[in-house]
Amino acid sequence: MRLVVATHNAKKAGEMTTILGHRFPDLEIVTLAEYPGAPEPAETGTTYAENAVIKAESAAAYTGEWCVADDAGLEIDALPGELGVYSKRFAGEETPFPEKMRIILDRLQGVPDNERCARFQCAVALAKRGIETQVFEAKCEGRIATEPSGNGGFGYDPIFWLPERGCTMADLTAEQKHAVSHRGKVLREFAAAFAALTAL
Ligand code: IMP
Repeated sequence: MRLVVATHNAKKAGEMTTILGHRFPDLEIVTLAEYPGAPEPAETGTTYAENAVIKAESAAAYTGEWCVADDAGLEIDALPGELGVYSKRFAGEETPFPEKMRIILDRLQGVPDNERCARFQCAVALAKRGIETQVFEAKCEGRIATEPSGNGGFGYDPIFWLPERGCTMADLTAEQKHAVSHRGKVLREFAAAFAALTAL
């Protein structure tokens, strides 16, 4: 049986493939790179769930396979409404992450620890032609660090401080990140439902 990870983001695809690959060793997990010409639908939803469904259903219509897509974002309480569902577009979609993170850190300069609360949110959708799409959601709470740290993960991980670990998300190994991350949590829930649906 094949599962298509419906994302064009290689880092995200890597995380999803690793997490799901451990849980389903007999499943053939591929990405949209196997389907040249697969559309990249506009993320026109106003919620993570809507965007995850748009991506999963677009891939399912094109491939005819089980497709899983996620949509994630970083919410920063001190910058209300500025990132969230629009995290990828923050400060311009083409702006490199070190620059996006520098802008965030500058905007939060002088903001005390207890007002730097933030969270990653993640929705995952499972779609297949003729089957009702299912959505799963999870979050990971933390704070915005005062300086970037670490080379692991991707995106905003270097400025996402995990108080209980005493380090940023990017300081963790991949395995450690998946144990606590929004994506790890939601994919464990997804896996239970997928196993029940497919008898894997
Ligand atoms: P999207 O789900 O691809 O739209 O991602 C939204 C934004 O959040 C992108 O800029 C991603 O790089 C970022 N992002 C998503 N997941 C993570 C993560 O696990 N760590 C850090 N940044 C992330």
